[in-house]
Amino acid sequence: MCYVGKELNEECAVFGIWGHANAAKLTYYGLHSMQHRGQEGAGIAVTDGKHIYDHKGLGLVNDVFDHEKLENLSKGYAAIGHVRYSTQGGNSYANVQPLVFRSQKDSLSIAHNGNLVNAHKLKGELEERGSIFQTTSDTEVIAHLIKRDYADSFMESLKHALSVIKGAYALTMLTEHQLIAALDPNGLRPLSLGRLGDAWVVASETCAFDLIGATYVRDVNPGEIVMINNEGMRSEFFTNHTQPAICSMEYIYFSRPDSNIQGINVHAARKNLGKMLAQEAPVEADVVTGVPDSSISAAIGYAEATGIPYELGMIKNRYVGRTFIQPSQELREQGVKMKLSPVRAIIKGKRVVMVDDSIVRGTTSRRIVNMMREAGATEVHVRISSPPITHPCFYGIDTSTSSELIAATHSVEEIRKEIGADSLVYLSVDGLMKAIGRDPALKNCGQCLACFTGKYPTEIYPDTVLPHEKELLV
Ligand code: SF4
Repeated sequence: MCYVGKELNEECAVFGIWGHANAAKLTYYGLHSMQHRGQEGAGIAVTDGKHIYDHKGLGLVNDVFDHEKLENLSKGYAAIGHVRYSTQGGNSYANVQPLVFRSQKDSLSIAHNGNLVNAHKLKGELEERGSIFQTTSDTEVIAHLIKRDYADSFMESLKHALSVIKGAYALTMLTEHQLIAALDPNGLRPLSLGRLGDAWVVASETCAFDLIGATYVRDVNPGEIVMINNEGMRSEFFTNHTQPAICSMEYIYFSRPDSNIQGINVHAARKNLGKMLAQEAPVEADVVTGVPDSSISAAIGYAEATGIPYELGMIKNRYVGRTFIQPSQELREQGVKMKLSPVRAIIKGKRVVMVDDSIVRGTTSRRIVNMMREAGATEVHVRISSPPITHPCFYGIDTSTSSELIAATHSVEEIRKEIGADSLVYLSVDGLMKAIGRDPALKNCGQCLACFTGKYPTEIYPDTVLPHEKELLV
């Protein structure tokens, strides 16, 4: 995954562990393995059964935590953690999670991956009833709903809150006495459950389990609440109205290739995307290359299916600091040059197939095609391992408004001219489904395809706030 210069950004990853003496350290490692999902803030909250302690800050996991900070959290035998990607203007300390709410009665810590579509409406209603918000994060709406209606039964209050909020939410929550994981009725974001000895672990991606030596048990189901405490694990559903629609972009771009989502390995899925693309859009060429890192698996698949050799046509500079991971267009454009270099010896005099996972605004693709030509490519054929992104995402991905999405306003031929490619073909929606092992003929295929089709799996409210507009919630 190429953070710098890419035009899509995930917002977060969550982690949770119950029943381990090294809960904070394991959470640190878990977050570290999911750093690709958010680089601008990180936090950990732990419980020792009496109190919740936390530490969080702006920056990478390694910047926020050192040995001493982790030692200060070492009294906890359970923890939750979060890494965050903040969209435009939202990179304030107050928004870094887990959010912790303390009261005389008890405390609640909450970490959220996703984006609510009715947060603005709910926030207004809560404010009218006297709630005072300290952050611009929609996650605080969830906490207020839980705490406000929390009379005798935490579970009833939680169920009520989860049935009121709409949109995407994969949550880990921690009280003094239990760890809770919950997933929205569409299961838009991945959330998996694992074991580490007697301890329970929850994570946005299974790569976190591999790093800490945990064993994958199963995915959390849409509409499910998983509660873990010293008595063990139990599960309840807060709604019967579930309709699985996991984000297709998790397979195409966001998740790490070594993660499995719903039993499908991400690298294998991406290779299939490349193979399907080769079937749909073959071309005569000398080499196939992929834009590092997220497109390499698809490029290998394309090469395997066509018999054209795969080559390392581009190198990513891994030492560009996060200073350049900024949402401004100007820095994005500079970022491409900082981040990617062509391998001239491979490219020069060749007809190149350049596989990329997506085109958002087109700026990055144009610069990469240019770079290939400057390096001596005689032809550049661009193959995209996803369908055209024509609609914005309301579920926690930093896609732009429709007007900024090049495929919303341009035909494929117009985009080809704009990016300067000799040919341009996108994968079809059916091809995407087949590559992930879904049946395209099914009405409910289990995938969210909304950014390609405009068919959103949830209601979209008139005042739905795009992720990058969250500051407007103030
Ligand atoms: S709209 Fe696109 S990016 Fe957003 S959740 Fe659906 S598939 Fe994923």
